[in-house]
Amino acid sequence: MKDRSHSLPSFSTFLNKGFDLRSHAGQMADARTDPDISPSSVFLALFHAFVFRLPSFQQLDSELAHSYLQQWIGAERAFRDDTLRYSLCGFDLDPLEAMLVDVNRRLKRSKAFDQGRVQGRLVAALDGIEVLSSFSRRCENCLERRVIGKDQAGRKIEQTQYYHRAVGCQMVHSPVKPFLAIEWLRPGEGEDTAALRLLTRLPDLYGSRFFDILLLDALYAQTPVLQLIQKARWDAVISLKQNSRELYQSAMGLFAHRPADTSFTDRRAHKTYHVQLWDTEGLPFTVENPEPVRVVRSEEVLERNRFRQGKRTSHSTDHEWLWVTTLPRQAFPAAIVRQLGHSRWKNENNGWMDLTKHCAFKHGFLHACQHRPKQINSSGEREPVPNRGLAAVTLILLIAFALTSVFVLRHSKLARIDHLTVIAVAAQLHAWTSKAPPSIRAPD
Ligand SMILES: [Zn+2]
Repeated sequence: MKDRSHSLPSFSTFLNKGFDLRSHAGQMADARTDPDISPSSVFLALFHAFVFRLPSFQQLDSELAHSYLQQWIGAERAFRDDTLRYSLCGFDLDPLEAMLVDVNRRLKRSKAFDQGRVQGRLVAALDGIEVLSSFSRRCENCLERRVIGKDQAGRKIEQTQYYHRAVGCQMVHSPVKPFLAIEWLRPGEGEDTAALRLLTRLPDLYGSRFFDILLLDALYAQTPVLQLIQKARWDAVISLKQNSRELYQSAMGLFAHRPADTSFTDRRAHKTYHVQLWDTEGLPFTVENPEPVRVVRSEEVLERNRFRQGKRTSHSTDHEWLWVTTLPRQAFPAAIVRQLGHSRWKNENNGWMDLTKHCAFKHGFLHACQHRPKQINSSGEREPVPNRGLAAVTLILLIAFALTSVFVLRHSKLARIDHLTVIAVAAQLHAWTSKAPPSIRAPD
């Protein structure tokens, strides 16, 4: 019987032919002077650790020492997590970001996003995520907040917690959901400030028509955000909550006095939604910026069937949603705005989850890394380079996430025939490194 599993050579051929993995790896750089282990080897080692979903860096150490991974990636010799950390702390972020952009451009050209078009348009979402929180370890880029907790005796105590938070932009409707870019919050600033930076940077990275519609949380229902979106000629669907008081109240006031514009029933698995939709154009966005906007409101009764002691019972709950949108009514009726507003990318295995769960982000692997390459500052003193470890590790994870998902979801016939999950494919690729003949090396 033929071996029905994925091999690392076929994965690598796919990555080199389709995405120039090797030549991108050759562009990587860091702040070390004349290192034994090249930045390219560091990048490829961590990239494969994410592809294989290795549970720890100790495991990566051991793989480099005992499996064929070292030969496969062409590393100079086996190396340990201290080398990895020292390199990554001063890693150059530009080639990593350039690679992520290039991967996404190639995905778009190969029509990887087309399956998720809504009325012919491509959809992306902006969202925040928190990684790394600690009461003891901190670095110069940490955000801080006061947190009430309990000590061992159960007494209430207030402590300072250090953490990192970022805003990411992700393609969301297609099966392959890569991140386009990520922006870290700087100490003392809010998520909206980082989001504005990201929205300004996106057209520079991708051009403005890389996607068409942007989905946003209520936090972003602000004039500067709306202006940047319009400048880039995107459309937006933004959750509307009571924090946008004037618009929320004028919409609620208007809708209270008239019957719904549409109603329908939406059945999914064990859930039935009875939906009533209101839709209006021409409400002023804010008092300061009275630009007319469209608001859609959905009142939903969700019925769930439950089986208890052999009897079917039905249980219902009421829900209400509002969205403000720049989408035109004709092409995007209220039901489609509702569908966009309800997009549930956050619940899926989608990269954000990897970010919060992977060991690299859990144990403060790079968080407060004091041992860093030095550079000469403007007053001629030697000082450690700024700590870019977390940003570098995150970009490598996002690249690995994009390439693994496109391999499994679009390229691999085996994954389709055998209904393999991303995790099962990762295990097959990983297994290959312990059984390959030692002479083998990835093609350049
Ligand atoms: Zn920190």
